[in-house]
Amino acid sequence: MAGHRIQIRGTVQGVGFRPWVYRLASRVGVVGRVRNDPRGVTIEAFGSQAILDRFTKELQRDTLPAAHIVELCETTIPDEDLDAFVIEPSGATGHRALSIPPDLATCEDCRKELLDRHDRRFGYAFTNCTACGPRFTIATGIPYDRAATTMSGFTMCAACQAEYDDVGDRRFHAQPNACPECGPALSLDRLDGQAPSEVNALAEAAALLSRGAVVAVKGLGGFHLACDASDGAAVRRLRERKHRDEKPFAVMVASLDAAHALAEISADEEALLTAAERPVVLLRGRQDAGLALEVSPDTALLGLFLPYTPLHHLLLDAVQRPLVMTSANVSDEPICYENREARQRLEGIADAILLHNREIAMRCDDSVSRVIAGTPTIMRRSRGFVPRPFYLSRPVARPVLACGAHLKNTFCIAMGDTAYFGPHIGDLETVAALDFFEEAIERMQTILEVRPDVVAHDLHPGYLSTRYAKTRDDVTLVGVQHHHAHVASLMAEHGIQGPVLGVAYDGTGFGEDGTSWGGEFLLCFAERYERLATFRPLRLAGGDLAMREVWRIGYALLHDAYDGAPPSDSISLLGDVRPSSIRLVKQMIERGLNAPQARGVGRFFDGFGALALGRARSTYEGQVAIAWDQVANESVSNAYPFEIDRMRTPWEVDLRPAVRAAVDDLGGAVHAGDVSARFHNALVAVTVELLEALWAERGDLPVALTGGVFQNAWLAGEIEAKISNKNRLLRHGEVPPGDGGIALGQALIADAILGDKG
Ligand code: ZN
Ligand code: ZN
Ligand code: FE
Repeated sequence: MAGHRIQIRGTVQGVGFRPWVYRLASRVGVVGRVRNDPRGVTIEAFGSQAILDRFTKELQRDTLPAAHIVELCETTIPDEDLDAFVIEPSGATGHRALSIPPDLATCEDCRKELLDRHDRRFGYAFTNCTACGPRFTIATGIPYDRAATTMSGFTMCAACQAEYDDVGDRRFHAQPNACPECGPALSLDRLDGQAPSEVNALAEAAALLSRGAVVAVKGLGGFHLACDASDGAAVRRLRERKHRDEKPFAVMVASLDAAHALAEISADEEALLTAAERPVVLLRGRQDAGLALEVSPDTALLGLFLPYTPLHHLLLDAVQRPLVMTSANVSDEPICYENREARQRLEGIADAILLHNREIAMRCDDSVSRVIAGTPTIMRRSRGFVPRPFYLSRPVARPVLACGAHLKNTFCIAMGDTAYFGPHIGDLETVAALDFFEEAIERMQTILEVRPDVVAHDLHPGYLSTRYAKTRDDVTLVGVQHHHAHVASLMAEHGIQGPVLGVAYDGTGFGEDGTSWGGEFLLCFAERYERLATFRPLRLAGGDLAMREVWRIGYALLHDAYDGAPPSDSISLLGDVRPSSIRLVKQMIERGLNAPQARGVGRFFDGFGALALGRARSTYEGQVAIAWDQVANESVSNAYPFEIDRMRTPWEVDLRPAVRAAVDDLGGAVHAGDVSARFHNALVAVTVELLEALWAERGDLPVALTGGVFQNAWLAGEIEAKISNKNRLLRHGEVPPGDGGIALGQALIADAILGDKG
């Protein structure tokens, strides 16, 4: 006989891990105990060496889909004389926050019950078990048990209670356990003046959807607006009512097979689609696959996801076609999540609301993932991930709250060797978004039982996240440069302390010289950075307005490339812009009036896109830049010329030769796809040339590719293919490359700046 202690770190609490271990132990024949500990789960197992080996092997082999093992550490302990395997109650000490796991997609066992006529949960929209169901979005406090969830008002019936109490049952201690007898119920609220009919809510909602109606559906972290994705008129109606012109909608499909019919899907993409987090996955859509053109009018990228609640499964099953499922809100406001606000906010948008009486405690938008140049990457880390801990290779010396950036805001709290991202907040541009931001921070502080007295924020004084930081009393504020934070987030993901060569390409970020940065080569350490290279700035006439009216950026490119006198045929590339508007922008640029300098690589995408595609405006952030990407002709391998001015500090990339060459090409009727490819190749060449030069000068450092521009598959893939030292390249996976990932870096830099002080 021998004894083994197995300590497991990761998401192993609240996912049915202990009962699963119990069942495995009983099957294999080991005795001992399993308990939650502050960092995960500890198992002490006793038996013959052969049985213990088998136990450990199976533990690692068929782990639960919802569990996420980060580390498994095994030690030998003295034998004990026991006759059973037991689950020990959780101690009062330790990290109680770990007990709230993220929301988990409906498991296979529950899905089968849902479809089984003979099961007591047949067709029940709130079926769940220890391995699946709502968690973070129903938790009202800690520790995570039923009394501290929005299920507290429902008393379990005898049958449910028996499952809950039976350690051999797959619903043992499943906090949201429910059935049609005792649990939440659906209802349908008609907003179109019609009286609800007598049939059940789900069937009626499905019938409405089949007739082209817009139906709001209450999900895990908020309401979706749903409509038939194959019905162009329905999708158009939804766009009009939601005030969303062209931004693509996500589409939910019933199964992986249905997804394959609509998009090209690789093995990595399939894994993302079916993961317990169930993110929206951005895929290459198939032409003429039956979806309405209006779903994603101007891009080949299609966001698909699979059902993640029983309600979704039932609805998709009843409707028998793909459904647009988009966050229920108007424009950029936060997602709607309360029954009482739903009717008021969705009046005039939805024809009916399919709702239920289980409250959402915390709103949480869908997450978004994409395979970028071979790397599965989380682009928006929210439902399914929050509040999963992110382990730090170097602990912080004190708890830190990091407020994130401005667009696609996410905040982060770091404490000890762990960091927690909050849910996706969105663009901090409205009062409603700011309220959500503050409320979410309060809540995360409550469930983590921490009130950090260090608050990290962006250097931009105008960001609402910065202003919020400054309203916190009795805290130490630390301003962190935007691109340094991007790089530090990626360093943290790879457990690297620095120095690192950071390449941060994005749309904008406040620079220490007051200009907008975003084409930055930074030598990064944990607490400081040195700026080695950047891009020659453009003047953005009208400031943020230029992000929508991208012709202003196109004009700025021309104005700079031709020393203020662009030839008239180049001006004609700007499309239908009034000559008087162009004269005004010219003046603004020349006088530097409301025309801030910007170095963001993303702005070059906007500007080149405007010129080559003749598209004067973006109806949503990055629209023209994305279109510019997508037209690129992959078979074109030559690049536009550029210069790098090494006499300046930092070095400066000059793309004016590329602008002139592109104008010549466009005048010579070269296809926009070829122009786009040469532009992309120029950026690849710029990056590779700078990296090789910096490696030669600074030593063989790891390179961190970060910033929103690296959501672009072409750039990341080609840079990787062309640099000499590929194994030094760091790319994003778990932490978003865009501004949604920045808060982690802010927290770590703030901690490093303060060092051992205070
Ligand atoms: Zn389940
Ligand atoms: Zn029940
Ligand atoms: Fe950024």
